[in-house]
Amino acid sequence: MQTLVMKFGGTSVGNAAAIQQTADICAQQKQSSENLVVVVSAMSGITDLLIQAAQQAAGNQPERMWETIETIRTKHLQVIDALLPADSAPVAEREQVITAVTARLDELNSYCQSIQVLGEVTSRGMDVISSLGERISAQIVAALLRIMGTPSIAVEATQLIVTDRSFQNAVPQMGPSREKIRKVLHPLFHQGFVPVVTGFIGATPEGITTTLGRGGSDYTGAILADCLDADELWIWTDVDGVLTADPRVVAHARTIPEISFAEVGELAYFGAKVLHPKTIRPAVTRNMPLWVKNTFNPGFPGTRISQSATRERGEISAVTTIKDLSILTVEGRGMLGVPGIAARTFGAVARTGASVQMITQSSSEQSICFTIPSKLSEDVVASLEAEMSLELYRKDIDRIWSRDQVVILSIIGAGMRETPGVSARIFGALGKANINVVAIAQGSSEYSLSLVIDQAEANAAVRAIHDEIIPPLV
Ligand code: ADP
Ligand code: ASP
Ligand code: MG
Repeated sequence: MQTLVMKFGGTSVGNAAAIQQTADICAQQKQSSENLVVVVSAMSGITDLLIQAAQQAAGNQPERMWETIETIRTKHLQVIDALLPADSAPVAEREQVITAVTARLDELNSYCQSIQVLGEVTSRGMDVISSLGERISAQIVAALLRIMGTPSIAVEATQLIVTDRSFQNAVPQMGPSREKIRKVLHPLFHQGFVPVVTGFIGATPEGITTTLGRGGSDYTGAILADCLDADELWIWTDVDGVLTADPRVVAHARTIPEISFAEVGELAYFGAKVLHPKTIRPAVTRNMPLWVKNTFNPGFPGTRISQSATRERGEISAVTTIKDLSILTVEGRGMLGVPGIAARTFGAVARTGASVQMITQSSSEQSICFTIPSKLSEDVVASLEAEMSLELYRKDIDRIWSRDQVVILSIIGAGMRETPGVSARIFGALGKANINVVAIAQGSSEYSLSLVIDQAEANAAVRAIHDEIIPPLV
């Protein structure tokens, strides 16, 4: 293969043994891929700890902040000690990586101290801090590859990916990014290097660090693969590919060997954490196959995601959930036929910054229901009440209320909506398990059916539906 991008997630670089395993896979793959790019996440748990340290700094909790910083420091230095031991690793390599990593850790100290003085952390400041995990892990993986005899160099994606200024959820600008990516990486390929690029991060045209959103390293992989016209993108993680359900919920969930972009897009959108939802788009545009593989079971092929994957009509691929949601209802007999109510409703929601995952409307137009993240429900209700104050006063709208602690459970499969009997089996399975359905949305795509149910019953519902409609392997 000529150009291949391989992305390794947090667990794949989560400890010394995992990093060794990752480096072994990269060194091996370099033998058959002329231009190989590696993208790495922060070690698992580190991004959370970095954010926690910043919050503790802003909350004026210096003792806790220093404890968190110490945990971050120790975790990295222990891994360096294990992978590049003082008594056997080449001295220059060890010193170089320790210098690079401690420089980042010292940056963390000073950012947190500044935040403590200011008493607040901006989203721009949060991006600089949460980018540090990837900037450290890339250094460690590149150093390990070098001592294993594979020429490699750590590259910060701030040099490659140009984004807008939407801190914490930045949008890449593909034209300028393409130019930079090719300008920086092509000379490295010619010199035989494997660039180890930081996932998750980018920079504005002025060079201010941004991040692409939590779980965004998958997206980094897709952006690089797109801009390099790569043959394939491989996402290495800690499970055997895209599975029929979250394996933490359904222990016997199984690998889906092949799946289409359209189906996997629905799966990612509806909560399967294995792929960041934005990863798919560049792959679709270029019709570039994507693989999801297991770092800890590298001989297993995993899941191939492509345009062409076909599925039997009505065959179900997966059951997913999005948790920690609230379902809001705007209800009133006076809404009947009044133009503009829906537009004003969603305008008021948008002003709070909440994104809506699913909408249903009763056919009599007496209510509109939609889901939003629970943490925003109070704000959204307040914004709606302000927007509709006149209608509430006139009793055209009777009430605006929120039901918290719900999930969206989605059943995903090509052509499922045209297949008679699927819904009956789904509702039959829920009925048998005594699980109540709060709302239903068919969605506009033919690939999914979504239900809202109480969070307390989510796992039982996933298991009941999975076991009813996904046939076991024979
Ligand atoms: P990484 O750190 O490698 O990016 P993530 O934790 O982001 O890994 O995603 C992998 C995890 O996604 C798995 O460990 C699994 O628990 C979870 N997951 C949820 N739904 C699915 C699914 N349908 N298929 C595979 N994994 C899933
Ligand atoms: N480290 C980042 C996160 O935890 C990005 C990623 O792992 O994909 O969100
Ligand atoms: Mg991930």
